[in-house]
Amino acid sequence: MATGRLINELQSYGVRLVDPKAGADSRRGGAGPSDHKAMTVDGMTVMVPVHTAPAFESPYLVEKPDAFGRSRVSRDGVSLGEVTFPLQPKFYGLSTADGIPYSKIAVLHGRDVLATTVLQSCIRYQSRTKTCQFCAIGQSLAAGRTIERKTPAQLAEVAKAAVELDGVKHMVMTTGTPPGRDRGCEILAESAAAVKAAVDLPIQVQSEPPDDDAWFQRLKDAGADALGMHLEAVTPEVRSRIMPGKAQVSVERYLAAFAAAVPVFGRGQVSTYILAGLGDTAEAILAMSEKLVALGVYPFVVPFVPISGTPLESHPTPSPAFMHEILGPLSKMVRAGGLSATDIKAGCGRCGACSALSAYEKGVAP
Ligand code: SF4
Repeated sequence: MATGRLINELQSYGVRLVDPKAGADSRRGGAGPSDHKAMTVDGMTVMVPVHTAPAFESPYLVEKPDAFGRSRVSRDGVSLGEVTFPLQPKFYGLSTADGIPYSKIAVLHGRDVLATTVLQSCIRYQSRTKTCQFCAIGQSLAAGRTIERKTPAQLAEVAKAAVELDGVKHMVMTTGTPPGRDRGCEILAESAAAVKAAVDLPIQVQSEPPDDDAWFQRLKDAGADALGMHLEAVTPEVRSRIMPGKAQVSVERYLAAFAAAVPVFGRGQVSTYILAGLGDTAEAILAMSEKLVALGVYPFVVPFVPISGTPLESHPTPSPAFMHEILGPLSKMVRAGGLSATDIKAGCGRCGACSALSAYEKGVAP
């Protein structure tokens, strides 16, 4: 099976692990996609659901790693190939002087990305009527796996260690949305500045569109190399059903913010996350992607993963065929627009682990 198609299958169904301790710790809860484990398929590291309801019933089984760290993937007893697991990073063994484990400040995503949620609370997470239905930002905090506010000094300390000990190549800084019109840009700017002063590491910052487009230049000047502003869903009906609070920021405002941010960060250095499988049709996602590519924005389309404990925990994942219907034409559209995952300096689009898009871009899939 071609790599892109196999990644689609594994991300849609999830996998059952014979040895749940294989590889680095899995992600549970937190902002964005979760309940995953990183595994490397044909040289590409991807996040594959292991803790979700579909994963518990997945037809895909990943066997215990052999002496070389390789695990056989099979379906109905038929071997489909091998995966390996990135090792637990060394920086997870360290703590700050005041006793906070580094892994509560930032974690490894994919193979070489340091990821943090600078502020682990969100104005949109206070009530079920406003919360984004897919998000688990409060769960990892409630479970004590992270701290609410990571200071710039803590982020700088952990980033330096992650580069020196584990060779991380870029960093993703996201944030819950604080009250305030900057939508978190101020704390992202001070965090990026502190990390850049400590270590030379490309950084992507992620926020909602701020009230004032001048924030884009401030973020760039502070040291951010790339920016993510995440639409999540593309049609107003799906947006207001799935994220009633965040949908108050209209698609038009996102498009205007993208148009203002691209000249600051450069074509292809601004991206957006689109979750396929929440109700938007393939046509709607591709039509929006066309507008985004024309603006110079990289549309990072990922399969929706239902996270345990969220209102969407029983929502089905998109089928591999639905993802193929999107990612095939999307990869061609992105390439034709002169954009590419490998040209992105930092962030989710460069990492690519939550989607098979970059595998399609490389022409691995038919
Ligand atoms: S694509 Fe983004 S959210 Fe997914 S593993 Fe990579 S950095 Fe993390």
